[in-house]
Amino acid sequence: MPTRSPIVSILGHVDHGKTTVLDAIRGSTVTEKEAGKITQMIGASYIPANYIKKISKGILERTKTELKIPGILLIDTPGHEAFTTLRDRGGSIADIVVLVIDIIQGIQPQTIESINILKHYKTPFIVAANKIDLIHGWIKHKTNSFTESLEEQPPRVAQKLDDYLYKLVGALSIHGFESERFDRISDFTKEIAIIPLSGKSKEGIAELLMFVAGLSQKFLGKRLIMDDNAPAKGSILEVKEVKNMGTMVDVILYDGTMKKGDKIAFLTDEGVKTTTVRALLEPSFKRGEQYNYLEKVVAAAGIRIFAPNLENAIPGSPIKVISKKSDVDEISDQYKSILKEQTHLGVVVCADSLGSAEAIQSLMAKNKIPIKYIHVGKVRKEDILDAQVVKKDDKYLGIILAFNTIIPTNISELSDASGTKIIYSNIIYDMVDKYQDWVKEMKNSEKSILSKQLPAPSEVLVLSGFIFRVSKPAIFGIKVKQGTLRAGTRIMRADGTIIGKLKSIQHNKEQKHEVSEGEEVAISIDSATYKKDFEENDKLYTYLSKKEIFAWESHTDYLSDSEKEALKEIRNIVIKKSRLS
Ligand code: GDP
Repeated sequence: MPTRSPIVSILGHVDHGKTTVLDAIRGSTVTEKEAGKITQMIGASYIPANYIKKISKGILERTKTELKIPGILLIDTPGHEAFTTLRDRGGSIADIVVLVIDIIQGIQPQTIESINILKHYKTPFIVAANKIDLIHGWIKHKTNSFTESLEEQPPRVAQKLDDYLYKLVGALSIHGFESERFDRISDFTKEIAIIPLSGKSKEGIAELLMFVAGLSQKFLGKRLIMDDNAPAKGSILEVKEVKNMGTMVDVILYDGTMKKGDKIAFLTDEGVKTTTVRALLEPSFKRGEQYNYLEKVVAAAGIRIFAPNLENAIPGSPIKVISKKSDVDEISDQYKSILKEQTHLGVVVCADSLGSAEAIQSLMAKNKIPIKYIHVGKVRKEDILDAQVVKKDDKYLGIILAFNTIIPTNISELSDASGTKIIYSNIIYDMVDKYQDWVKEMKNSEKSILSKQLPAPSEVLVLSGFIFRVSKPAIFGIKVKQGTLRAGTRIMRADGTIIGKLKSIQHNKEQKHEVSEGEEVAISIDSATYKKDFEENDKLYTYLSKKEIFAWESHTDYLSDSEKEALKEIRNIVIKKSRLS
């Protein structure tokens, strides 16, 4: 069976040069199909093996690498959105990733996001250490080869490059990956290859292409073997409204063959839908013609499909040619595991693609945050209404998490008017953090409201030898044993008798509003008298009414552990006293 082209995706932090590297690779894209030249497909560029051989200038021969793959299919949209969109049951359909890192800036937040995603999908990757031309003293050479250019650099520049590379190697190892400059690696199964390059001057693009091709065929093995007579499988990259033609889907096929007239299945918010391929389109370079119409397409390829009923197709959905019922079941399983309502009480998630939906789902599960459902697409009115219903039962879950998707103005207004919050993010890991911060913030503000209404629970010990004044007011030293002691609260004895109101707290001649466990201070109580109402070594407590105790008990997450302990003691005293009286 033939080997197909590996599908390659470019990831990395913003401004590290993903687009520049992509353009440097595609630089010589031709406007018509010609043997040995790069061609433009839908959503991807096809780089044939002959081109890679030519550009690699003998590196392939020197390393005795014989290219068996027909070429490389390079996804045209860089960044993790496209990567996570192109998915197949839990994995990405990208076979290998080029992780672009600015060699001077090193690892940045979105680099880490990319690394986490690569770990999650277990996708092999190569690091493109970009912008070497910015290294102080670097002399640009008119070559695509890093090795050739390096030979011409002064030794101190080569040293500088190594300094940057070792910083990068160190940073990558913190994230669990051993790496090394590509020409110093002894075992490619253990170390990630770093290709120093410049997207701007193109030095290093030859080695990058060669290693992407060489390593894919060396390590992807069976994954690239394909039966080209098999029904096609692919993933929807984008759903497009094309003027005068209707809805079309841009698809990356990773297996088999798709023909005009084939029956295909894909996912919508409501479940699996099927339709029949009316046309398979690729960009045309003939003047006046937008598309070439094809009879069939063999993977790996990027293709635009025209068919009826594609309107509700969701990006990231698997799309496959179906011949029997079990073909549909497989897609339907994905619907059930990701898109179907999962629980009644949970947050509503709106995501841009099925891939990000899946990543969010797994991260939320790890953080034990229940999801009501995930909708792929813009935030809708019904999402707000559903979140409102949840909010009635659980105010921390009645919220919408919008990941990298559109929040229409009227929906944003509705959210403001109804007080149903929408949290937006375009970094998956950030989304969960933002949600947790919001919950914390809500709890803190509720706590501060509640604390104003309810006395803080405390247990204190009257220190011996520190009675400064016997009465009117009594002033004496105490140590807070548990909880928080606040001025203005009523103080009781261990038998539940109230001895007076705490007038003030003093520490080192300074007035304090509150003190917590472990602190030793002087307090004054107007109506209490030493010996009559309290003695040295007595334990005293904040007095709480039964109602106040119950109120705290239904909000114990606002209390510290120490306050919880104090509350328990106070509860025992107050309940016991009420039984006795
Ligand atoms: P992206 O956000 O990762 O796609 O980054 P871009 O490709 O848009 O690049 C961001 C900026 O870095 C642009 O101003 C590029 O011209 C610049 N840039 C990218 N690659 C290189 C490089 O190799 N050398 C230099 N000097 N600048 C580069």
